[in-house]
Amino acid sequence: MAYLTLKNINKIYPNGYHAVHNFNLDMEKGEFIVFVGPSGCGKSTTLRMIAGLEDISNGEFLIDGERANELGPRERGVAMVFQSYALYPQMSVYDNIAYGLELQGADDDYIDEKVRNTARILGLTDYLDRLPRALSGGQRQRVAIGRALIRKVGIFLMDEPLSNLDAKQRVTMRSEITQIHRETGATTIYVTHDQTEAMTMADRIVVMKDGYVQQVGTPRELYFNPVNVFVAGFIGEPPMNFIRTKLTDGGIDIAGRKIDLKKLGKKLDAYEGKEIVFGFRPEAIRLGEQKDAYVLPASVELTEMLGDNTNVYITMGEVHSILKVDPHDTPEVDSNILFSIPFESVYLFDGETEKVIE
Ligand code: ADP
Repeated sequence: MAYLTLKNINKIYPNGYHAVHNFNLDMEKGEFIVFVGPSGCGKSTTLRMIAGLEDISNGEFLIDGERANELGPRERGVAMVFQSYALYPQMSVYDNIAYGLELQGADDDYIDEKVRNTARILGLTDYLDRLPRALSGGQRQRVAIGRALIRKVGIFLMDEPLSNLDAKQRVTMRSEITQIHRETGATTIYVTHDQTEAMTMADRIVVMKDGYVQQVGTPRELYFNPVNVFVAGFIGEPPMNFIRTKLTDGGIDIAGRKIDLKKLGKKLDAYEGKEIVFGFRPEAIRLGEQKDAYVLPASVELTEMLGDNTNVYITMGEVHSILKVDPHDTPEVDSNILFSIPFESVYLFDGETEKVIE
């Protein structure tokens, strides 16, 4: 049986705004789930309903198979880390971490053991006597996580915990949180708008848009088998290239070249004469002509050398796309190139519903 179950969860705010629609999810104990999507898509609202900080308007939330809708945050056994990690400025790191247990009236030896153990997991042992102001942003966020972790809870919730850190600290903390999760095994739900955080940290990702779940899956499933244009474009950096065009005689035309889509073995009959979306990832292409691939001519507009790869901005007639190539193969700006999209790397979507065509 699942540890946490969200069954047709809806949130309608008192002003009538319907922020979350029919959210369904089963979570196993110890899983690390990430809710990802653009700002305003309902991630925090869903997290806050799980935390018990926000009423569930409709639907059922179960913990270990028991209805939990009416339970308060403490009774649910959740701990939450927020974006702004308000530490007590006049208290040492030790006292900040210990505070929750002290409030619960735990005895001193127990608290001491817990604080030291938590500090060890978080790499804060050498900083226990310091005040928060003498710590870096990343260290402060670790104290905030420690404060939440020290209480024995079943569910660990994090709402954009890295958004106040700089890019470098974010990368470090990303792997640290993954490590902490491995050590503690706490069932975790993590909210972010950053697809890289989602891809690198999650066991499974829930992609949301406009209050609706778009897809639930492992990072690999979302990358290789996106169910629609939104997920395909949201996961991956630079995003997937999309070419929207009409299907005629089982093919499409890109910059005067006929692309025969019948070769892909997808069910296209119903789309004859209709608009479809042709998608391919920037990193899926090969420069030059390859076998079992669509070969396309393009003109190079701009190149961005990033070190481990180069982003090549190309035009094919009216169509603009991005290719990701090995930096040693960076083409000249204004040159004309040929590139190949392997058949197995092509995605097709219904132009109207934007759902993937299998
Ligand atoms: P996210 O976390 O994905 O950025 P939120 O869950 O915070 O999104 O918000 C989802 C939507 O609900 C947004 O459009 C937001 O403006 C709206 N919203 C959030 N809180 C309230 C509220 N208290 N009353 C009315 N609408 C709200």
